[in-house]
Amino acid sequence: MTTHSPPVPCHLNLVDGRWVDGERRPNLNPARPGETVAEYAAADRAVVKEAVDAAGRARPGWASTPVGERMRLLDRIGATILRRVEELAVLLSREEGKLLAEARGEVTRAGQTFRYYAHQLLQPEGEIYASTRERASAEVRRRPLGVVGVITPWNYPWAIPAWKVAPALAYGNTVVLKPAELVTASAGEMARIITDAGVPPGVFNLVMGDGPTAGEELLTSDGIDGVSFTGGTATGRHVARRCVEYGNKRFQLEMGGKNPLVVLDDADLEVAVRCALDGGFFSTGQRCTASSRLVVQSGIHDRFVDALTKATRALRVGDPLDERSQLGPVASPDQLARNLEYVEIGRREGATAVAGGDHTAEEGQFMRPTLFVGARNDMRLAREEIFGPVSCVIKVDDFDEAVAVAGDTRYGLSSGIVTTSLSAAERFKRLSRSGIVTVNLPTAGTELHLPFGGTGESNHGPREQGAYARDFYTVPVTCYTGW
Ligand code: NAD
Repeated sequence: MTTHSPPVPCHLNLVDGRWVDGERRPNLNPARPGETVAEYAAADRAVVKEAVDAAGRARPGWASTPVGERMRLLDRIGATILRRVEELAVLLSREEGKLLAEARGEVTRAGQTFRYYAHQLLQPEGEIYASTRERASAEVRRRPLGVVGVITPWNYPWAIPAWKVAPALAYGNTVVLKPAELVTASAGEMARIITDAGVPPGVFNLVMGDGPTAGEELLTSDGIDGVSFTGGTATGRHVARRCVEYGNKRFQLEMGGKNPLVVLDDADLEVAVRCALDGGFFSTGQRCTASSRLVVQSGIHDRFVDALTKATRALRVGDPLDERSQLGPVASPDQLARNLEYVEIGRREGATAVAGGDHTAEEGQFMRPTLFVGARNDMRLAREEIFGPVSCVIKVDDFDEAVAVAGDTRYGLSSGIVTTSLSAAERFKRLSRSGIVTVNLPTAGTELHLPFGGTGESNHGPREQGAYARDFYTVPVTCYTGW
């Protein structure tokens, strides 16, 4: 008797309301090598061009669609995502390796984000000013930016596209989304939900494919007015150059991080360990806000290292669909190789791995969470973003040294402090150079109604999320009226 595996679904590009095929590529499960989760149709440059043209044609109609209608559609998209959380979370978990519980949280966040921006449209649209001229008035209105290219990374396949696409559509823009190659199944499902909600053809388009082809076509196209990008700093720099060279497009970049968590002598040890464990290792360390540098004062250093080493070794690495797992696989073979290379770099630089530092014996792209002690802030281990479950402890003498070490980075996304001193917490909030500061909480973890973004090489352009998102997706128009 022959057995048949169920057919693997294939996600197609969405262009002007039509599903467009392309070269079929597999989307593999990082926890089970050889298991194809889905296939996707890669878009070549011609398909991307068609999508941009379609978004351009749809733009005037969507910009003049009544706000009530845009609200209704966004609300419907959010409601559908929320209704399908379980099924979409399993897919996300299988294609990216995120723990099922984390995947449920992420998909839920995406649904809530669409609903949030539906309701943001009821906020005031502009301001009225007195004019200094006689018999005249002045007002500032907002108009949509136009056609927006959205380029996203693989680590949050639902949350990040949602926090870009939802405000873009809400404020009257049309969109071409290019998701990361590793997570096209989630993007394909999002596109299906947006279309089924009744969003008109051309308003939202999806093109899947690699950066140098599909992404590059978006960056160099005359038909794109702005690019919202999240990904690595090197790619972000390239996006910036292209946007300036090709039509001076508006651009917004959210990039890497090397985020510090400061632990002071007066910290609650349990809170400190919890923050370090969550910030450093949860989501397999694949968060731009991960705390990969633990800046620890000398008085608590040894107790903290002992407790964190035990807790790190106890973390259960395993199948993300198994509710007992606490850490899933690394998302890709390339990322795993990079993580292991940095472990070697750390060792060569003289730091000591007291937990992890290797592959697990299991099949799949699994890696044990790795904790280094004896690191210095000038080591590559402490300066370069790894984007894996690797943290290092840097010992400091006092608060001032901790602040100096925490701020000594070219990045500036998030930073945290664990302390029971109100005064130290307040001073840290004022002195920190990052865009997000946490006290007695992990450096990772954001809320959708609050602005998100960094400084230095972590960010360029206006903040994302919350009401601040409007600044990127709209153009202020100053109107003078004489009467
Ligand atoms: P990446 O820079 O490799 O890719 C990001 C996106 O850019 C992908 O869709 C990719 O296809 C596209 N791309 C690549 N080359 C391109 C080109 N030449 N033209 C146009 N597009 C191109 O990043 P990644 O590996 O997907 O994600 C990991 C990185 O993302 C990490 O550095 C992480 O810190 C960062 N990240 C930042 C935030 C944030 O909000 N600051 C959030 C999540 C991830």
